[in-house]
Order: sequence, then C-alpha cells, then structure tokens
Amino acid sequence: MEFSIDKPMREKLEEARERGRTEVRPVGLEADRLGRAIPVDHPYFLKLIKRGEGRTGWPGPGVQAEPPRPGDSTRSTVMALLLAEEYAYWDRGVGVGNPGPGLPESNVLSMGTDEQKERFLGIFLKPDRPRWACFAMTEPGAGSDAAGIQTSARKDGDAWILNGAKCFIGSASRSDWILVQTTIDPSKGRGAQRAFFVEKDTPGLGGFKIEKKMGMKAYESTSFTLDDVRIPAANLLGGEERYQQQAGFKTAMRTFNAGRPVIAANAVGIGRAVIDESLVFAREHDLLGDVRVRDRIEHSARQLRKARLLCLRAGWLADQQRPNILEASMSKALAATVAYDAASLGMELLGSVGARGDHLIEKLYRDVKAMDIVEGTGQIQRVIMSRNLVGLSSRG
Ligand SMILES: Cc1cc2nc3c(=O)[nH]c(=O)nc-3n(C[C@H](O)[C@H](O)[C@H](O)COP(=O)(O)OP(=O)(O)OC[C@H]3O[C@@H](n4cnc5c(N)ncnc54)[C@H](O)[C@@H]3O)c2cc1C
Repeated sequence: MEFSIDKPMREKLEEARERGRTEVRPVGLEADRLGRAIPVDHPYFLKLIKRGEGRTGWPGPGVQAEPPRPGDSTRSTVMALLLAEEYAYWDRGVGVGNPGPGLPESNVLSMGTDEQKERFLGIFLKPDRPRWACFAMTEPGAGSDAAGIQTSARKDGDAWILNGAKCFIGSASRSDWILVQTTIDPSKGRGAQRAFFVEKDTPGLGGFKIEKKMGMKAYESTSFTLDDVRIPAANLLGGEERYQQQAGFKTAMRTFNAGRPVIAANAVGIGRAVIDESLVFAREHDLLGDVRVRDRIEHSARQLRKARLLCLRAGWLADQQRPNILEASMSKALAATVAYDAASLGMELLGSVGARGDHLIEKLYRDVKAMDIVEGTGQIQRVIMSRNLVGLSSRG
C-alpha cells in the first residue's frame, strides 16, 4: 500500500485547509448558532458557484471523459478521502450541504442512459445558481432494512405512478430532482426495486418537512411524500433492462458501498478537530500535567490514526479496482466509534463548560453522532463484517 502524499496532493490539501478555516468553519458555526440549514441564497453558496464549484464530473453530451493522466494522484480515491477528512475537520455539515449533484451522481454516471445524463446532470455542467440533487432511500418504516422499502411504483400506460413517504433525505426540499428508490412489488424484496428521477414541482410530490436534528445543522434533512406522482417512463434510471437480476437494489447498494469510507474519513476529521480543541482547552486549563488526561488524549488520537489507516486502505483498494466491502464496513464502524469516543472525552474535559452549549467541542459532540447512523449504522456494519468473516454474503 502506498499512502504517501505528493506535491500536487499536498497543495490540494493545503487549499482545503485554508478554505476550511476561512469559509467552512465560520458558515458551519453560523448555521449551528441559528439552528437552521444554510439558506439557498447564502453568499457562501453564491461564492462557490462563481468559483466553478457545485458542478458535475460528467463531461457533457458527446464529450469523452478525460482519462486520468498516468500518475495523477489528485484524482485518486485516497485523495478524495483525505479531502473528505479535511473538510469534515472544519465542518462536515457544510460539506454535505454544498450545491452539486451529490450522492446520486455516481449512480447516474454508471447506470443512467445518455439522455438521462444530459437531462439530469446537464444542469450541473455550468450551473447559473446553486443547484442540488439528492438520493431518497430511507422511509419512516425502512432505514437499515433498505430491502423493505414500501414506496410503490405502478406502471400506467407509458408512465409510472409513485406513492409513498421518505424521511431524513439530505437537501430534498432544495433539489432540482430526487432519485427516489421504490418497489414494484414489496413482497419480492430487493429484485423489485426501481429508482426514478422525480423532478421538483412534479404534482403529488410535497409535504416537505425539514427534520429537527441534534447536529449537522448546516444542511437540511427532510421528509416528503409522493401522492400519485406521475413519472414518464424515461425517468426510470437506466431503463427497464437495467433492472433484471436484482440490479435495482444493487444500484442503491453501490452508492452506499462507495460512501462508507467517505463517512469514515468524515468521522476521522471530526475526531481530529475534537483532539485539537481538547488540547487547546486542556492546555489553557492546566490539565496536561495530569498523566491520566495525557494518556486518554493520546489513546484517542491513536485510535483515530488506526481508523484513518483502515479508511485509506479501503480507498486504496478502490483505486486498485479491488473489492473493498469488508474494509469499507470496518473503516466506517471503527471511525464512527472512535470519533464519538474522542468527542465524549472532549466533553468530559470541558466539564461544566460543555454543559453551557457554546463550545466547539459540544457542537462536534452533537455532529459526530450521525456518523454512526448514516449509510448503514455501526450495528449493520458489524452484521456485514461478521457474515463476511464466516463466508456468508453481506445480506441475508
Ligand atoms: C443526519 C442524517 C442524514 C441522513 N441522510 C439520508 C439521505 O440523504 N438519504 C437517505 O435515504 N437516508 C438518509 N438518512 C437515513 C439513514 O440512512 C437511516 O437513519 C439509517 O439507515 C438507519 O435507519 P433508521 O434510522 O430507520 O434506524 P433503524 O433501521 O430503525 O435502526 C434502529 C437501530 O436498530 C439497529 N438494527 C436495525 N436492524 C438491525 C439488524 N438487522 N441487526 C442488528 N441491528 C439492527 C440499528 O443498528 C439501530 O441501532 C439520514 C440519517 C441521518 C441521521
């Protein structure tokens, strides 16, 4: 394994650090203080768009994607994970809420038809304003049990009719389109799942309610309903052929497998921020003379390093086009736990200062909890790992 950081990577990381310090952290603190997501017309978003961010990686109609230049380390998964860690260090919620095609982009790139790429990613080629897209899997009765979703899709002539409810969907109310995971027959489990593009303002799409969250306030997590939403057949991701042999469910799971090391990297970033802030606080309050305090901070920092190495290994395997399911789950399960432990330690060191609710460590403590929940809870990762250990498939 090779994790050395070359000059171009270092430059990218330094740029991320500077933006994190001067832009991301202040906007995140503002959202947390006000207790609401960054507004769509916030100058921070407008600045990102002006700078050419919030764009798709799709090169455009008829344009061949430029293959990575040999030796271009800045386009590797390892680089993406290092950046995910660095931005989360400054504020993970801000990074998730940034404009762009977001979570569903990779599915559209790998599964979408040319026409779908043009219609749904085309608006992100050179966006005139901040734009979002999102992926909606979770339902009030189906979170970990993603195969048990009930949102239905029924064929009606040349169209599909969607009915159901989704919850905790990032940036849903501000998205131009939502990739909605549905089932054509709930009794048939995974193989009956279909993903549809549902465009903003489609009649029947509504009931948007921004959930109240303990942390990660910079971006919205939203529930909504689909009430006889009529969708053209052309909005079925990839077309019907793609959905043979359980491909519908695999489509969704692909998103999650790619996402787990990113969540792990986010958790490591938050944990690092906690350690740095804990050291500042402990130094200011003369706590570092106590060997027990030093020992516990060192233990936490060591655990975070371990998690980072696992996370980078998951990324390195992806760069080698090798399976990384086990490492992806391991990194996510470990990083979320050790980052949470670091935040608990930070809160302990703060004592009554933490209880006041206005210290950065207290915010990080509220933010970090979600890392164990999103994209498969820690318990679900442990189920996957234990099944893998004894040679069973990851879902059973
Ligand atoms: C901040 C945030 C952002 C989110 N963003 C999105 C998003 O953009 N899109 C989206 O689709 N979803 C999103 N989610 C939803 C998230 O994916 C779910 O919360 C997650 O999958 C867990 O589902 P649940 O909350 O229904 O918990 P449940 O599945 O009800 O689980 C509750 C508890 O039971 C345990 N459990 C459940 N099943 C098993 C089992 N078989 N074996 C052992 N233990 C089990 C779990 O580990 C957990 O501890 C988001 C959630 C949060 C908190």
